[in-house]
Amino acid sequence: MSEYLIGVDLGGTNIRAAAVSPSGSILDRISIPTQAYQGRRAVVKRLIELIRGIEEKFGKKGQRLVGVGMGIAGAIYLNRGLVSRSPNLEGWENFKLMDRLQKYLDFPIFLENDANAIALGEKWKGAGKKAESFCCLTLGTGIGGGIILNNKIWHGVDGTAGEIGHTTLDPQGPPCNCGSNGCLEIYASATGIKRMVLEKIREGNKSSLLKKCQNKIEDITAKMVYDSAKDGDELCQGVFREMGRYLGIGLANLINLLNLELIVLGGKVTQAWNLFIGETRKEIKKRGFTPSAKRTKITKAKLGDDAGVLGAVYFALEKLGGEQRRRQY
Ligand SMILES: [Zn+2]
Repeated sequence: MSEYLIGVDLGGTNIRAAAVSPSGSILDRISIPTQAYQGRRAVVKRLIELIRGIEEKFGKKGQRLVGVGMGIAGAIYLNRGLVSRSPNLEGWENFKLMDRLQKYLDFPIFLENDANAIALGEKWKGAGKKAESFCCLTLGTGIGGGIILNNKIWHGVDGTAGEIGHTTLDPQGPPCNCGSNGCLEIYASATGIKRMVLEKIREGNKSSLLKKCQNKIEDITAKMVYDSAKDGDELCQGVFREMGRYLGIGLANLINLLNLELIVLGGKVTQAWNLFIGETRKEIKKRGFTPSAKRTKITKAKLGDDAGVLGAVYFALEKLGGEQRRRQY
């Protein structure tokens, strides 16, 4: 009987799940909307149904589920299976998710932070394959971070390490959702890009965006800023350069601290790679303390939305005594 695992990526917008072979081939993918506004109970119910649905389908083919790995958008206390804080899942604070799931599902389940899962996915099958120590940043609505040192996720004492998006770049900077000011996330995420554009427009600067949004500037999205920048809009191009500069400052801090061989950048914002990466590299070169810091490789993530589910499975395999298990396949 062949075995498989399920990887789940539980985000504020979508729940993605995949059936994955122990060697890392994706056998099936499913994505459903999270509908977090319906509350925790409803989301957990759908999550359980989703996993059971996959198990039923593969069970009919005679395949055996050996474990589920789950990446969750939020701070996870790994040892207690507890979601301590999740900005995108309201009402999940201090929720013992593991206990709840284990009540209904009769196989091993392992929880991990979603950004850590993405980093592990890129390590297993993506851009970080050959690297032993690297960081993976997901530049999306916010910024997720995962730190891999000597082939292992650096979890910190409780499991909540890697919040690179909340390192302070400017103590007098704009407020961040986390309660601090001037965090990297305020500048280098999709939300940050929109914020910077609105600020410049409110100061009276001209942009083709004003026409596109019919002067309703709140309707401007990071995607619109990207499209306009590609069409030659100077204000939008300037914002991406600024974003790249701040990102470079954040990455230089990280590199000086950890002497990394590689930084992997993923998430929707990296579609605008050519518009910001030059400034990022310039800044790293300027601020890198040692020659090795100045040459840390910066590269794009390879796996897109598959990174989270693959990484969750990798994590589950590790916990199940994976090294030996993976070698068997
Ligand atoms: Zn913050």
